[in-house]
Amino acid sequence: MTSLHALIADITTLKVDAIVNAANSSLLGGGGVDGAIHRAAGPGLLAECRLLGGCRTGSAKLTGGHDLPARHVIHTVGPVWQGGRHGEAELLAACYRNSLEQAEAHRLHSIAFPCISTGVYGYPADEAAVIAVRTVRGFVDAGCTLTDVLFCCFSETNLALYQALLNGPPDPAANERSR
Ligand code: ADP
Repeated sequence: MTSLHALIADITTLKVDAIVNAANSSLLGGGGVDGAIHRAAGPGLLAECRLLGGCRTGSAKLTGGHDLPARHVIHTVGPVWQGGRHGEAELLAACYRNSLEQAEAHRLHSIAFPCISTGVYGYPADEAAVIAVRTVRGFVDAGCTLTDVLFCCFSETNLALYQALLNGPPDPAANERSR
């Protein structure tokens, strides 16, 4: 059984098996949560990322946590919002699903997600939260090694969106674990 929680925190402070980074496709650092993770993890993270050869939008790659309290970082690249008709929803769902696949492949128990794509990449926060919760629920309901999935929000607005979704009625679209 996996429990899903939302909280407000700086994701770099969380002591979990993996934090997810909303990275860019170079995996060589950037602004927002990406910059915060690289600053807190130290130069070892960048050195490890240089070996990965980048990452496609929707994919996910795992590294060590270096100086972070988290043991691992799962780097995923969210879609840039372009109005919603360019496959953004599928790509955002793929970010969550592929990050969870990485966690499962490494038999991790706890993972924390930031609100992927909702900063500089401009994805509407409410639509992104629906996709995040739906995709995670669909994945964990099929059974996995994870016991805790945290939605790490950076604003009260995002926290309220996630709490409404997590406490609300089940989403009928959540029962598909599409791979
Ligand atoms: P993207 O380019 O995918 O939009 P951003 O880093 O710009 O990524 O923003 C993604 C989300 O991460 C935003 O909701 C932003 O408020 C949030 N965020 C920024 N810094 C942190 C942090 N240290 N911990 C958790 N969330 C953060």
